[in-house]
Amino acid sequence: MNWPELADKCIMPMASRRQAITLVRGQGVRVWDDAGKEYLDLVGGWAVCTLGHCHPVLVKAIAEQAQTLMHISNQFYSIPQTRLAELLVKNSCFAKAFFCNSGAEANEGMVKLARKYGKLKLGGAYEVITALNSFHGRTLAMVAATGQPKYQEAFTPLTPGFVHVEFNNAQAIKKAATRNTCAVMLEPIQGEGGVNIPDDGYFQEVRAFCDERGLLLMFDEVQTGLGRTGSLFAYEQLGVEPDAIALAKGLAGGFPVGAFLAKAPCAVLAPGDHASTYGGNPLACAAAIAVLNYTLERNLPQHAKEMGSHFLARLQALKGRFPFIQEARGRGLLLALQFKEDLADAVQEACTRRGLLVNRLRPSALRFMPPLIITRDEVDEGVDILEKALAEVGRK
Ligand code: PLP
Repeated sequence: MNWPELADKCIMPMASRRQAITLVRGQGVRVWDDAGKEYLDLVGGWAVCTLGHCHPVLVKAIAEQAQTLMHISNQFYSIPQTRLAELLVKNSCFAKAFFCNSGAEANEGMVKLARKYGKLKLGGAYEVITALNSFHGRTLAMVAATGQPKYQEAFTPLTPGFVHVEFNNAQAIKKAATRNTCAVMLEPIQGEGGVNIPDDGYFQEVRAFCDERGLLLMFDEVQTGLGRTGSLFAYEQLGVEPDAIALAKGLAGGFPVGAFLAKAPCAVLAPGDHASTYGGNPLACAAAIAVLNYTLERNLPQHAKEMGSHFLARLQALKGRFPFIQEARGRGLLLALQFKEDLADAVQEACTRRGLLVNRLRPSALRFMPPLIITRDEVDEGVDILEKALAEVGRK
């Protein structure tokens, strides 16, 4: 069966599927296609598969909850939802959680919270300052929040209320803030925008400014959260606490869950303000509890930090061998390899042929977001294959 041909006939295109691989099975950090070919997966479902593929702890939690209670409406209390919220607030600086189904929805809800906060506490202020090169999702409002014209041009007019400023420039935020501003929303590390790490001190300066003006500081940790960058939440490494945070991706290791968390003073949503039919249903929350408990018990954030340092060091060492590499950057298991030329497609293709899945971030950059359970040997195996692919592309 030619699955790509059938899929392209009846599915609207989403990502560009240059490689036409149909994956049918996964285990740990490995996946297999419909022809039985094995791949080492350094894409991890776009930073989602925290525990790798089909981890027995996650599979068991989903199976047990599916046999107990899969879905109820948010008109009723549920034990998994309550337990998950408790687990998240216990392990963060936040007081309350709201559950939804994706990263875009989590950000969207967080912006609604900021707008209501603006109405109640800031004289009706509604504008949210975000960064250029940011990525906050694909709903209409989050397309407007995202600071990249390529995601906006086909969908104008944009939802009003978002102002974009240069990332890693606290002064730009100060200049852009007006009496209409209610919040600043930033990714601790810009993921989709290029794995961009701001300078030390940036977030402290932004936090101090927000405090001075009474603005909310909100972090989009959809990609950086849940251990990926070496701490449960990336903000823990920044020396500041945001007022609210958005989560999704790795939260339930592949089961679709999103959430936003807020400190008590800005948890201003009342019944009926915001809701979601599926948001926080027992099945999704049981999956997230299993992932979060495993992450905490095995200290996966620390593991991600160690594996990430090793991975980054190996990527940096490649720079000496291949002059077309500009730099390797990242934190924990969110890493990028930047080329001086547009070589990402060719390198990705050469990797895939050799059984390694990587993410083409830009025409000139690759991104790596493997499961947090990846071992040192698997990192080495991946970089060894990458090295061969780079040598092949370099010869051409
Ligand atoms: N925010 C960030 C930082 C992301 O990286 C993404 C997805 O890549 C999103 C939001 C959107 O998440 P979702 O695709 O689950 O809506």
